[in-house]
Amino acid sequence: GGFQSMGLSYPVYKGVMKKGYKVPTPIQRKTIPVILDGKDIVAMARTGSGKTAAFLVPMFEKLKAPQAQTGARALILTPTRELALQTMKFTKELGKFTGLKTALILGGDRYVPPHLPAQFYSCLLDGFLANTHLHFYAFSPLRLFEMGFAEQLQEIIQRLPDTRQTLLFSATLPKLLVEFARAGLTEPVLIRL
Ligand code: AMP
Repeated sequence: GGFQSMGLSYPVYKGVMKKGYKVPTPIQRKTIPVILDGKDIVAMARTGSGKTAAFLVPMFEKLKAPQAQTGARALILTPTRELALQTMKFTKELGKFTGLKTALILGGDRYVPPHLPAQFYSCLLDGFLANTHLHFYAFSPLRLFEMGFAEQLQEIIQRLPDTRQTLLFSATLPKLLVEFARAGLTEPVLIRL
């Protein structure tokens, strides 16, 4: 069960090799085939488990088919600026050979005035999310909840196309999150180690 046996295309596989990954981590072994299969997932994974590549690898694979439409085809949400920057860097490295383009949206930059999350979200919702094949990913939804973004998270989810594939990764799975997943995901496969 190496990366070779996962049926990855050469541009995606080459990115993995370039990062120096020899074998998939346990979470990657479990999530990659299920995500490639098109299922929604709720995965319990800690930082350091390789969870970023666990969704990026299959996401690249899914997105590599060209689409007539322009606009965003995947959305990755992170609770902090640092994590957003880190994830962006990682996405560029791992996806180097896919030809996919990435964009970073941060709260508090000159397009998005600080303390105006509503404006940020309306910009996100109107200009960005009106697309068909969109993968949604909440890096750490629990932290987003704790930071008071539950409402915005719901709002984003509601505006995403029904055809989306939703991937939710969290270190823990409290009741709040189970309810959230039940409302926003379609028959999610629960993955724990
Ligand atoms: P993460 O849990 O996503 O923060 O990843 C933790 C670290 O594991 C990062 O430095 C990744 O580059 C690295 N990593 C991810 N997948 C693999 C793998 N299959 N083999 C070796 N290292 C990996």
